[in-house]
Amino acid sequence: MVINTEALSVRYREASVNLRNKQLLITNFHNTQQENDLTEPPNCKGFGRIRHFRRSSSDVWLSNPLPIDPACNALDLRAASMIRAQVFQSAACNWRCWYCYVPFELLAANRKYSDWMSPSQLIDLYLGQPEPPPMIDLTGGQPDLVPEWVPWMMAELKQRGLDRQVYLWSDDNLSNDYLWRFLSDADLELMASYPNYGRVCCFKGFNSESFAFNTRAEAALFDQQFQLMKRLLSLGIDLYAYATFTTPVDSEVAVDMARFVDRLQEIDRNLPLRTVPLEIQTFTPVKGRLDDATQAALKNQYLAIEAWKTELENRFSSIERSQPITAIPLRTNQLQ
Ligand code: SF4
Repeated sequence: MVINTEALSVRYREASVNLRNKQLLITNFHNTQQENDLTEPPNCKGFGRIRHFRRSSSDVWLSNPLPIDPACNALDLRAASMIRAQVFQSAACNWRCWYCYVPFELLAANRKYSDWMSPSQLIDLYLGQPEPPPMIDLTGGQPDLVPEWVPWMMAELKQRGLDRQVYLWSDDNLSNDYLWRFLSDADLELMASYPNYGRVCCFKGFNSESFAFNTRAEAALFDQQFQLMKRLLSLGIDLYAYATFTTPVDSEVAVDMARFVDRLQEIDRNLPLRTVPLEIQTFTPVKGRLDDATQAALKNQYLAIEAWKTELENRFSSIERSQPITAIPLRTNQLQ
């Protein structure tokens, strides 16, 4: 059944933020299926997990510099092949991507697997560890069902004098305009001016068919992803993109990929160089969701990545393609 994104977003927002008490519904990983996939036991009394972001994926895929390069760049650290991050996970998402490594019961604002936490409590838990990582990753779920989370964390870090020491990273599935609907101008200004913040927005597919197949949302919302990305860019925050290329069909891949890259470049000529395709792998929750179509989609992503590489080679010089992702300027050289 197709997801009614607007209705589900409203429902999950209501269930996952308490504005009066400044609290958010945060996943607790203890006794969840996701706990089995973690390389280290949950930390922060179950509300956190340590993630090791690594640059490399597989031999056939492109390496992923996110969020390693933005974090190292902001914190003035030497470029590394791996960075440790303290992850906190919101307990709701408005989409149901079949490849999501989060079990769906942890995306439904379910109090059995989550609890109310304030930014202050999260930072206390983060600092209470023996070796707090250099960065905090606010992930989901869809963190932007509660866009207050990012400026609240920024204000808390700032108040404790940690805004220059800790890098803040957040995910966005480009599914709603809540950032503008619910944040004040002061919140948006804080996000734009905060020195150690980066945000990655995920395009769920490279055409409307793969988008709908991947997310279960209406195909028309594929177009909305570009509109939201364009709007986000106008805020002036340090912005990056992911893209997933799983598709149930193996025809017209090159044509549709060319159009996808065109559309990224309609937002900004250089946006493809700030976009990192993600190789979809099968974590434990995904295995139970696999069928013939998803198995084909896993295979077809390798056709799509070849088409992506061709498009980038045709559109950018080798010098441009070899630049660090943090050095790619956006909002310059705009195409008409
Ligand atoms: S949008 Fe992200 S969190 Fe939500 S289901 Fe898809 S992959 Fe999972």
